[in-house]
Amino acid sequence: MFPDELSNFLVEIGQPKFRAKQIFSWLHSGICDFDLMTNLPKTLREELKERCYIADVSIVRKLESKIDGTVKYLYSLYDGETVESVLMKYEHGYTVCISTQVGCRMGCSFCASGLNGLFRNLTASEMLAQIMAAQRDNNIRVSNVVMMGMGEPLDNFEQSVRFLQLVSHNDGMNIGLRHISLSTSGLVPGIKRLAEYNFPITLSVSLHAPNDEIRKSIMPVAKSYSIEQLLSVCRDYQSVTTRRISFEYALMEGVNDTDACAEELSKRMKGLLSHINLIPANPVKENSFKKPDKKRILRFQKLLESKGINATVRRTLGADIDASCGQLRRKEKEGESNEILQQN
Ligand code: SAH
Ligand code: SF4
Repeated sequence: MFPDELSNFLVEIGQPKFRAKQIFSWLHSGICDFDLMTNLPKTLREELKERCYIADVSIVRKLESKIDGTVKYLYSLYDGETVESVLMKYEHGYTVCISTQVGCRMGCSFCASGLNGLFRNLTASEMLAQIMAAQRDNNIRVSNVVMMGMGEPLDNFEQSVRFLQLVSHNDGMNIGLRHISLSTSGLVPGIKRLAEYNFPITLSVSLHAPNDEIRKSIMPVAKSYSIEQLLSVCRDYQSVTTRRISFEYALMEGVNDTDACAEELSKRMKGLLSHINLIPANPVKENSFKKPDKKRILRFQKLLESKGINATVRRTLGADIDASCGQLRRKEKEGESNEILQQN
């Protein structure tokens, strides 16, 4: 709840409004037990315990990379569903990658999150809880958030927007919207709606192909919206927000990594203030996509740069812990043992 929703609720149960700020502040400092809200009278705490619940997540599995300290969590939710989240340490602080749905219905063929479709949407509180749990577990403060875990945030539009408003709230975690990225597979109406909020977040669009033919072969969403429609809504988004858009391009050997693809991609980007994030595709057991060798990846990047397109190759973190989303949840469901976990 936002503070004003909390105050309305308190008035409804015959309590003074000013308690809303206190409760909001406890909730957003990660306290999940009404008994610990020591500045509330005992009677109010009892009443809240009877009427309310606090969304929280609990750790089912935790994998820690021995290479770079990246921590991957599998969290369980109140109904036993599970989602993944990743904590990464960069020079500028801690970043958490959160999930926005249990599963995903977009069905991209290279991705493990969507293999069994969508189970349910997460609430904004369940998104917040993933950040709070990582803070609690490591005794740290998170400074950046990426909505790049399981699920398509714009397919869970209301809760994703609510999350953005809550996580950046001055009396809450107060993580600036400029420190948050939202990644979408390219839901055109969702991008249009998001532009209306004019949030100073970074919008990341998962493009992964320079033309509709290749895109359709790996992303079913491309059958609903053409690249032209997608880039056109990106241009509109940019004219409203004046923010640079990030395009994700997962390089898959023999699929989208040729010189011709780089050439076509550079032409597509004309007129957009953009940044291309080249991601060497993460191998997923259930599909046969492979990442190209290093030489090809660098050649692709150089080709883009020679055409004046800003492109970087994303550093791989957590390579030893299957850190790309969807894989840990599947393993857990299949009951596979995980060697790294046993070693830890
Ligand atoms: N649903 C949103 C956000 C979650 S996916 C989206 O698709 O953008 C986050 C990013 O991971 C996307 O760019 C997605 O395309 C990418 N991704 C998914 N599976 C991958 C894999 N096996 N290798 C590399 N990138 C992958
Ligand atoms: Fe869903 Fe994103 Fe995975 Fe596609 S890449 S299936 S949109 S989570």
